[in-house]
Amino acid sequence: MKTGSFIHNPKLRSFLLKFFGQKNFFWKLITPLLKLQKNMKGECIFCKIVSGEINSKKVYENEKVVAFHDINPQAPVHILVIPKKHIEKITDLGDSEEDKEILYEITKACKIIANQMKIAERGFRIVVNTNPEGGQTVYHLHFHIIGGRQMRWPPG
Ligand code: AMP
Ligand code: ZN
Repeated sequence: MKTGSFIHNPKLRSFLLKFFGQKNFFWKLITPLLKLQKNMKGECIFCKIVSGEINSKKVYENEKVVAFHDINPQAPVHILVIPKKHIEKITDLGDSEEDKEILYEITKACKIIANQMKIAERGFRIVVNTNPEGGQTVYHLHFHIIGGRQMRWPPG
């Protein structure tokens, strides 16, 4: 469809004039988007683990983060460390003090858990799959701590 015919369509033109002529058109536009975002968080499996709605085998928790056993372990030790705040992926972390603190608490938790699981000295791997080509399947930021066997390189 040509842009010209789009604008000259009387029904569409009248709808656009009515819609954008309203005082609160901005909120009418933004509200469904905000609801969508809220729903995405509401449906997040890891948010449900944080709230306790879904059970997990927790190994560590503080004000900012929680860590639990992966349900489908890829090694003798396979723990997930997640922020309690719903952040989709590592590239969504910003420069705010809160995000800096979250990142610090996650890395601190990794160190504590590696010691707790007795893999710190032997060695272990931290993996953060990101987006489809990175193999991310759950869109709530999580650090995999994998250990207890020899790791290979390159990863699959
Ligand atoms: P990724 O594929 O990097 O997004 O990792 C998601 C991880 O979450 C996978 O290793 C899953 O086995 C794990 N996982 C999914 N659901 C649960 C759950 N309810 N409890 C624990 N781990 C889970
Ligand atoms: Zn979430």
